[in-house]
Amino acid sequence: MSNNSLASRPTSALAAPDAAIKALAAGAATLDRIESVKLSSITLPLKNPISDAKVLTGRQKPMTEVAFLFAEIRTEQGHEGIGFSYSKRAGGPAQFAHAKEIAPVLIGEDPNDIAKIWTKLVWAGASVGRSGVATQAIAAVDIALWDLKAKRAGLPIAKLLGSHRDSVQTYNTSGGFLHTPIEQVLENASASLASGIGGIKIKVGQPDWKQDIARLEKVREHLGDEVPLMVDANQQWDRPTAMRMGRIFDKFNLIWIEEPLDAYDAEGHAHLARSLDTSIATGEMLASVGEHVRLIEAGAVDIIQPDAPRIGGITQFLKLATLAEQKHLQLAPHFAMEIHLHLAAVYPYEPWVEHFDWLDPLFNEHLEIRDGRMHLSDRPGLGFTLSDQARAWTVGTAEFGK
Ligand SMILES: [Mg+2]
Repeated sequence: MSNNSLASRPTSALAAPDAAIKALAAGAATLDRIESVKLSSITLPLKNPISDAKVLTGRQKPMTEVAFLFAEIRTEQGHEGIGFSYSKRAGGPAQFAHAKEIAPVLIGEDPNDIAKIWTKLVWAGASVGRSGVATQAIAAVDIALWDLKAKRAGLPIAKLLGSHRDSVQTYNTSGGFLHTPIEQVLENASASLASGIGGIKIKVGQPDWKQDIARLEKVREHLGDEVPLMVDANQQWDRPTAMRMGRIFDKFNLIWIEEPLDAYDAEGHAHLARSLDTSIATGEMLASVGEHVRLIEAGAVDIIQPDAPRIGGITQFLKLATLAEQKHLQLAPHFAMEIHLHLAAVYPYEPWVEHFDWLDPLFNEHLEIRDGRMHLSDRPGLGFTLSDQARAWTVGTAEFGK
C-alpha cells in the first residue's frame, strides 16, 4: 500500500471536509437571514411578432412573448429585494422549475453573503451544470439579493458598486427589426432620437444580402453621418459572407457590427476583428462567464455584450467585467436595460446600454432618457417595483419560508 492511500492519512485530513462545511455556517458576523422567497413566472405579450435574421433564415419562429422569472426575497429584519431572469421562445418554464427546486436552500442564509449563496445554489443543482437554464434560474435570485443589499444601504446598485458616471449613452434596437418595413424603420429612428435616445441599431443578416445593404443605405442617409449607427446580424452569416459584408459595411461609419457569426465561433470573430475597420460586438447568447472567457482569450471582440440574467446575475457579470477591463474591451450589455444601466455605469470605459421599451408594462417606474443618454435615478436598489399588470400576467408562483 502506498503512503498516499486513504488508510495511511492522519485522522485530521479525513476530518477536513467536516471542518470546511462548519466554516460555511453563519457566525457572529451574520446580520440578517432570508425568511421567505417568492418565485413568479410572468409571460409578457409583445405588441407585434418580432423577427430578426434567425427567423428569415428559418431557424426560429417570430417571437410573440417573453417569459420572465421574478424572485422576491424577504428577510427576518424586513428587507426586501426583487430580481428577474428571462427567456425568449423557450426555456421560461424550465427556469421556473429549476428555481423552485433550488430555492429552499436560501432560507436562513445571510442575504449579504451573495457570493456564498450563488455557489450554494449552483451546488444544489450541480447535476445540470453551470451555464444555461440552471445559471439563469440562479440569476433572478442573485439580482434580487443585490437589489436587497443596495436598498438596505439606501443606494442605487450602481452607487453601491461604485459608479463611473450617472448616465450611459443609449441606442434603440426595437425600431429596426426585419419584420418592420423600411419606411417604418426610418420613422421609428426619428422618434427614438426625438425621445432622447442617442443611437440607432438595425437588424441585418437576411438571406438576400443586397436587401441588407439597401436598408442600411436608407437608414444612414436618413440619419446623416453623425448619428451613431450599429447593425446586428444575429449570427446568421458564415465566415466568407461576414467578411464580405463587413468590408462593405466598413464604408458606413458604424459603431459596431453585432453577432456577424455563430455565437460560439471565437476564431471566426477574432479574424473579423483583426481584418475590419468596424468594431466587432458579440456575447449576448453566451450562458456563463466561462463561455465569455473563451471569446476574450481568442481576441474575438472589441465590444463585449454580456447579459447578466443569461450568465447568472450581477455577481457573475462583475467577474466578467473585470476580465473585460483587463483586455481594454468596450462594453454594451444585451437587453434588460433596467439591470444593465447600473452595471454599465460602473464599467470604466464609456459603455452603451441597449434601449428596449418592451419591459415597461412590468414596472411602476421608468428610466429617464435625454440627451442621448439613460440616467440613473436616486431610487435605491434596481429602482423598480412590479406593476399590477405584471401581477395580472403571472402564470405561476411558488413560495418558500414564512
Ligand atoms: Mg443582438
